[in-house]
Amino acid sequence: PLVLGIETSCDETGVGIVRGHTLLADAIASSVDEHARFGGVVPEVASRAHLEAMVPTIERALREARVSASDLDAVAVTAGPGLAGALLVGVSAAKAYAYALGKPLYGVNHLASHICVDQLEHGPLPEPTMALLVSGGHSSLLLAPDITADVRPLGSTIDDAAGEAFDKVARVLDLGFPGGPVIDRYAREGDPEAIAFPRGLTGPRDAPYDFSFSGLKTAVARWIEARRNAGEEVPVRDVSASFQEAVTDVLTRKAVRACQDEGVDHLMIGGGVAANSRLRAMAEERCTRAGIELRVPRPKLCTDNGAMVAALGAEMVARRRATSGWDLPADSSLPVTEPHLPGPADA
Ligand code: ATP
Ligand code: MG
Ligand code: FE
Repeated sequence: PLVLGIETSCDETGVGIVRGHTLLADAIASSVDEHARFGGVVPEVASRAHLEAMVPTIERALREARVSASDLDAVAVTAGPGLAGALLVGVSAAKAYAYALGKPLYGVNHLASHICVDQLEHGPLPEPTMALLVSGGHSSLLLAPDITADVRPLGSTIDDAAGEAFDKVARVLDLGFPGGPVIDRYAREGDPEAIAFPRGLTGPRDAPYDFSFSGLKTAVARWIEARRNAGEEVPVRDVSASFQEAVTDVLTRKAVRACQDEGVDHLMIGGGVAANSRLRAMAEERCTRAGIELRVPRPKLCTDNGAMVAALGAEMVARRRATSGWDLPADSSLPVTEPHLPGPADA
């Protein structure tokens, strides 16, 4: 099926077009520069930017894919989770396009989309799918017998998300926002073993699949403060590398263990933090050693984009899932256990 997907859950206006598992277009307009001086995403600024970027980005995607809107089989849109006002812009636009074109509408889950996007990179996901989802707002291990209908969390963060930890540590280091890409860059020139930062929730009595990154973030902040108070220079590269090593060590260790415990022979890693170069390398190393096939999409498909929404929409069409009604809401706290928001039978 030929599907257009719209993503506006945060600060990226993304419009993607796919045909089945083939990526045809991935157009993105980001308002990240407008948020940088505030040190985080400002919801009102994001909503207004989506409104301004929406129509041009849809047109750009259609041009890039060389298809005409009338050829689409469906329109998919992120219904949640995310910023309420930002989501509403995408949902309203998707409804207007779908209704005007006479095409079915699918309101889909942003987190399930982060996983489903890998089908554009590596073909059909094995079932059940084991996925490590690591992004700005979420960090979980998920086992999905069917990404369009049945997604089960094995464990999640009990405090900060992995991406949130990257962003907060970057702020303490005065590296700007978002922090992940900058820390990734500095870490390449640093020593990952320079500082022994704590690995949260890895004790024998801790929940095997839960994560905790707030203690790590505090430990990094204290270490930096002590250096500054002593009038010493902060070794930004070593701090970045050592912090990043602690995060990726815990993530990959628990993900590999979940695969082994559940008897699953592959691991999918999705979400913005999956763009991290050290996480990708360490996961590759540990999965290879454990005989697990690793599936991580290219970095541009890991961070928020419209193609991932189109990918999940295409899967909904292929599996004949119920479409959403014209009263489709934007649900800012849509749980990962709901891959889409079906409407009444003949909506
Ligand atoms: P969610 O999907 O939970 O709603 P989100 O939509 O805000 O979160 P994503 O694009 O999925 O955002 O992920 C953004 C996060 O990924 C940010 O915290 C950012 O710092 C982090 N990130 C991006 N690139 C990298 C990288 N190379 N290394 C580490 N973290 C990264
Ligand atoms: Mg973003
Ligand atoms: Fe995201």
